[in-house]
Amino acid sequence: MSMSGTRGDRRRLVVIGGDAAGMSAASQARRLKDADELEIVAFERGNFTSYSACGIPYWVGGDVAERDELIARTPEEHRARGIDVRLRTEVTEIDVDGRRVHARDLESGAGSWVSYDRLVIATGARPVRPEMPGADAPGVHGVQTLDDGQALLDTLGATRGRRAVVVGAGYIGVEMAEALIKRGYEVTVVNRGSEPMSTLDPDMGRLVHRAMEGLGITMVNDAEVTKVLTGDDGRVRAVATQNAEYPADVVVLGIGVRPETGLARAAGLPLGDHGGLLTDLSMRVRGHEDIWAGGDCVEVLDLVSGRERHIALGTHANKHGQVIGTNVGGGYATFPGVVGTAVSKVCDLEIARTGLREKDARRAGLRYETVIIESTSRAGYYPGASPMTVKMLAERRTGRLLGVQIVGREGAGKRVDIAAVALTAGLTVEQMTALDLGYAPPFSPVWDPVLVAARKAAQAVRRAP
Ligand SMILES: Cc1cc2nc3c(=O)[nH]c(=O)nc-3n(C[C@H](O)[C@H](O)[C@H](O)COP(=O)(O)OP(=O)(O)OC[C@H]3O[C@@H](n4cnc5c(N)ncnc54)[C@H](O)[C@@H]3O)c2cc1C
Repeated sequence: MSMSGTRGDRRRLVVIGGDAAGMSAASQARRLKDADELEIVAFERGNFTSYSACGIPYWVGGDVAERDELIARTPEEHRARGIDVRLRTEVTEIDVDGRRVHARDLESGAGSWVSYDRLVIATGARPVRPEMPGADAPGVHGVQTLDDGQALLDTLGATRGRRAVVVGAGYIGVEMAEALIKRGYEVTVVNRGSEPMSTLDPDMGRLVHRAMEGLGITMVNDAEVTKVLTGDDGRVRAVATQNAEYPADVVVLGIGVRPETGLARAAGLPLGDHGGLLTDLSMRVRGHEDIWAGGDCVEVLDLVSGRERHIALGTHANKHGQVIGTNVGGGYATFPGVVGTAVSKVCDLEIARTGLREKDARRAGLRYETVIIESTSRAGYYPGASPMTVKMLAERRTGRLLGVQIVGREGAGKRVDIAAVALTAGLTVEQMTALDLGYAPPFSPVWDPVLVAARKAAQAVRRAP
């Protein structure tokens, strides 16, 4: 595979990473520039392109029947649109001065240099694998890729025992706990933090904890997994913490991810405090005219705190890809930053957050008021109304909304989008109380729970010294 020959006036875009950010960028660039002007080569070391890792818990849990339903666009579909996708091909080096990447075919082992005019780095994130005995034993699974999902399903299909331990209680951990409950497993979640869902404040995490126990999930907090114990057959048999053992026929790891930036680091590209690539607002790597980066391998600007953060979410990766593709294709687009919105669920419990937690606000040097209210998803008299808890943070004195967390049942999760819009617009909680939100008894009480919280937060701001 030699690709450094003469190309006349035609330029070459090389993309590293064939999922959300990389293929969105490639597809958008192709919409703007046809193949005569821009050759696009995308390297993906795995077997799939444009897949939804977000759907893995629902595939494992049986809500989604087939793996292929999680693939938005296959390599053949990309190729038909003029994107030269190279599967099972890993980029092992970026030569910034020589404007070329080294790519290795994982089947044959053959490698070659491929030159670029424009480069997109979309290498995603890699899951944290605990450094401890037994972490790689058969029966221990990560859930980052479709291959991981398939391997877990194969284990579940082959294992007679019904005890599962999930390590980590972030959103992937709680979604996987649900998937395993649905498959009839006895599930224990072992969590290092004081409550599950550390993206919430602990007082809201406690509600998730209680609800998970109500679903029959055993929640073990403040516990560090020290070892995976194996049986005579070499397979996992239990997970050990400092002071207990939890029998397990299968273990799922969900202890977070780090930006996959080894290549970028070796190439001397700028990385932030969280290990993610640093870009400007057009998603161009800082100081590098012809290199863009997006998705889980970059840091993003938190518009509420003004700090750079690493947040691995598909919603951002797709937007980054769109912005990069537009710019590479000769247009103009920017990604201003994020407010930190995320939503997830465990069985019928919906969990949502946006903006700052109390500790984020403190770290950013902000003084704030905080309120928690209880309300319902529908008018109290309307059938199916269920309880909902909303926590809201507002800046002291200015009353600017700083953050919202919601835990409840049907209709709770996506209510956080009201707050995401308010944060983006820089609204105060007082302004929020007048938002003209839709109301009818099947959808909300006459005062929507978010507005009830805003009203109480506005009072707290007025009363504060
Ligand atoms: C179980 C699970 C559930 C999730 N649920 C949600 C959700 O509900 N909502 C949400 O917003 N997000 C969710 N996410 C996160 C979301 O999937 C990611 O944020 C998104 O996939 C990031 O896209 P990306 O293109 O940046 O990186 P990735 O999807 O990680 O893709 C990077 C690609 O680059 C390839 N690659 C890396 N290095 C090289 C190399 N050197 N050479 C060639 N190829 C390389 C990798 O094989 C990979 O395919 C979930 C993730 C998981 C694992």
